[in-house]
Amino acid sequence: MICRHCGTDIADKALICYRCGNPTSEPRVKPPAGGPLLNRPRRAQPPMVAIVLALILAGLALWYLYS
Ligand SMILES: [Zn+2]
Repeated sequence: MICRHCGTDIADKALICYRCGNPTSEPRVKPPAGGPLLNRPRRAQPPMVAIVLALILAGLALWYLYS
């Protein structure tokens, strides 16, 4: 299907657009009301690029050490 918001081609089963994060259809179920415990800010996840770069650097370091 095509995202109504940004036009990205996304999976038919997708509930939200992976690119812009907007729901692909009107939400059928309301999200649970957030109590004080649910409103804690989430920790920011490190960006995927940083993880991949770290893995590549670690691999290169090992390759240099053992070659
Ligand atoms: Zn979108």
